[in-house]
Amino acid sequence: MKGFQTIAFLVLSVLMLSSCGSISTGGEDEKEKKAFAEENGFYLVEAEAETAPVESPEDAADDIAIWYNTKNPEASTIIGTNKQQGLVVYNLDGKEMYNYQVGKINNVDIHTKFNFGGDSITIVGATNRTLNTINFWKVNTESGELEELPLSNAISPKTQDVYGFTFYRSITAPRPEFKNKFYAISIGTDGRMEQWELMDDGGKLKARYARIVKFDTQCEGLVADDETGNLFVGEEAVGIWKISALPAGGDKKELIADVAKLKIQPDIEGLTIYYGAGGKGYLLASSQGNNSYAVFTRDDKNKYLGSFMISSGGGIDGTSDTDGIDVLNLALGSDFPDGVFIAQDGSNYDGENLMNQNFKLVDWKEIAGQFKPWLLIDNSYMPQKVVQ
Ligand code: CA
Ligand code: CA
Ligand code: CA
Ligand code: CA
Ligand code: CA
Ligand code: CA
Repeated sequence: MKGFQTIAFLVLSVLMLSSCGSISTGGEDEKEKKAFAEENGFYLVEAEAETAPVESPEDAADDIAIWYNTKNPEASTIIGTNKQQGLVVYNLDGKEMYNYQVGKINNVDIHTKFNFGGDSITIVGATNRTLNTINFWKVNTESGELEELPLSNAISPKTQDVYGFTFYRSITAPRPEFKNKFYAISIGTDGRMEQWELMDDGGKLKARYARIVKFDTQCEGLVADDETGNLFVGEEAVGIWKISALPAGGDKKELIADVAKLKIQPDIEGLTIYYGAGGKGYLLASSQGNNSYAVFTRDDKNKYLGSFMISSGGGIDGTSDTDGIDVLNLALGSDFPDGVFIAQDGSNYDGENLMNQNFKLVDWKEIAGQFKPWLLIDNSYMPQKVVQ
């Protein structure tokens, strides 16, 4: 009888756990995710907040860039793309603040200290698949609004379909003439990467062609490390390449993450860098095919340290099929005192209801603390891309 009671209790517990699981997962198979994480040694984290859903149905949310508000870090914003119609600005609670319907904006990046019209501005750049251009805005640092920059020449990549995007500022170039240049780098679905030097032309933005680098198949994720001069390129079905971000740095490509060797699965999507003092930090990549995020050291070895997944919890669903990601190490007020990691979610559930896609915000400490050993938490180092 005792044995039967134990079994009955166990069966009941399992039933209760699985039904709780299905409620909190909101339609996603969280049990399967947890089993997969365990099997592969992936870490599990939960989101602290999520943004409002984008306006467009189906595959629409894609990439993000975080604007760090120096005067009031808690009032920093998330600039997200709705690849059906434009850009959306959210606060750190995920509430929509501004919406710009300017075309099929795919990927977005941000950078401070661009000398423009006699000012040092915070510039936002994004690929526009409607016009096949790169569009640029200035962040209004009082309100967080975006103001389109006047151009002295259209910045139109020669690729048929402009897709990925990153800024790069060459603060560590080996020769003085290469130093402190400001670049926009885009890549097309045909693997054609194009790099422009950006400059101020009497209050208008001017772009001068710097180089073209070709990759064999479709690429999207791009991120440049201002301090090391490394540029990482995600070739979706192949892995992550490292090349010099300097136009004069040569075209030598090193495959630092190979989908055939690591627990990363196509498509390789968003790439971002966590900056810490003294060259420390990480390269993070969205491994879309297995709903996880891979972490590599930022140093020259780019050693793979492990992967994590975002599972449901606290009323917020987990992520799957992620496109863009971004991370910022800095303290962002009471909700994110140790920085934030943001990921697009391919299937955004509220309870059992499938909503339009959105972005999930995870406390960096939640991620760092899961790894064995812990990842670095450096909430005071100012990365070049946010330093005023
Ligand atoms: Ca997608
Ligand atoms: Ca981005
Ligand atoms: Ca893609
Ligand atoms: Ca989800
Ligand atoms: Ca994408
Ligand atoms: Ca949700």
